[in-house]
Amino acid sequence: MGVFGYYARQMEKILADRTKLIDASGIRKVFALAEKLKDPINFSIGQPDFDVPDELKEEAIKAIRAGQNKYSQTAGDTLLKEKIAERIKKEIGWDRPAVMVTSGVSGGLLLAFMALINPGDEVIIPDPYFVMYKHLVNMLGGKCVFVDGYPTFQLPLEKIRRAVTDKTKLIIVNSPSNPTGVVYGEEQIRKVAEIAAKKNIIVLSDEIYEKFCYEGQCTSMAKYYDRILVLGGFSKSHAMSGWRLGYAAANEVLKDVIEEMTKIQQYTFVCAPSPFQKAAIAALDYDVSRFVAAYRKKRDLVYEGLKDKFELVRPGGAFYAFVKSPAGTATEFVEKAIANNVLIIPGNVFSEKDTHFRISYATSDEKIKQGVEILRRLG
Ligand code: PMP
Repeated sequence: MGVFGYYARQMEKILADRTKLIDASGIRKVFALAEKLKDPINFSIGQPDFDVPDELKEEAIKAIRAGQNKYSQTAGDTLLKEKIAERIKKEIGWDRPAVMVTSGVSGGLLLAFMALINPGDEVIIPDPYFVMYKHLVNMLGGKCVFVDGYPTFQLPLEKIRRAVTDKTKLIIVNSPSNPTGVVYGEEQIRKVAEIAAKKNIIVLSDEIYEKFCYEGQCTSMAKYYDRILVLGGFSKSHAMSGWRLGYAAANEVLKDVIEEMTKIQQYTFVCAPSPFQKAAIAALDYDVSRFVAAYRKKRDLVYEGLKDKFELVRPGGAFYAFVKSPAGTATEFVEKAIANNVLIIPGNVFSEKDTHFRISYATSDEKIKQGVEILRRLG
């Protein structure tokens, strides 16, 4: 047995079984291929290309200088929670929402899953999906039940209806969606709420892209359903992905879930970063419409640039397009694109299929135009 065989066997003993349930290989492979590229057209990154607005940076600096550097309350800064609750009241219409501040939506997802999923519980996840759902559910011993949303990427009503069993604990919805950019229609949202209501299934609504909505309002399922946990955040809307700020909100019927999540936060994250919570208070009043307008234009550049050469649904929100590979698997097409200096992510990172690739158009208009040109050539 060589040194590496010995090392692998040692690790096998050391690492917990759950580490085997997590697979990071998809995106890692793209980055490995990309390593050799000089100044690539980077369509792979899931965060905005603008920076935190200066006024909000000042708020964070002010908070740090004023000594607000200690733990906050576990559930978050009181004023920030109040402001989030006010917004939820206004936008969703709940009277007394329960709110907590989380370390990003990622933090909220982990706490929510830890508070809700028992081993063997089934979680219905529309496919394609944001990667974290699958890995966290698996890690906690839950069972992912994927419902195929191709080719429209709307909520597949019949498939969701058929997927419900006595073990269904949660349905996850994410609109605007990562990786497809699709915004769920009002009709689909209402119907899924009806399906969930029949068996009192909890819905987890990941609304991190709610601001990036290009065709009027994006409807939250919370308008139609009470047993829903809404997760929102600041990483995308205010480009604060490194500040680790998000929130979880529920109507009174699920206030105990928020309480249990807070308990778990106490023993895990402790709290979201305190000075940034102060800045988030100002962020809630900050008008981001100019960013949204810029991103609408980027969406148009991508969609108009690719629609006659590729099969793709016109994205209504977020900053992604999910495009069908013209031939072969998506992974093969991605390798070709990367060899031509364009970084995209194969669909099998976000899906049980490998037929599409994800473009993140959170980059400069110039780079988008160049990237679209190259993809057209390869298509
Ligand atoms: N949900 C979705 C759909 C996302 O795309 C992301 C970030 N890529 C997150 C949650 C997590 O965001 P954060 O933890 O930075 O708030």
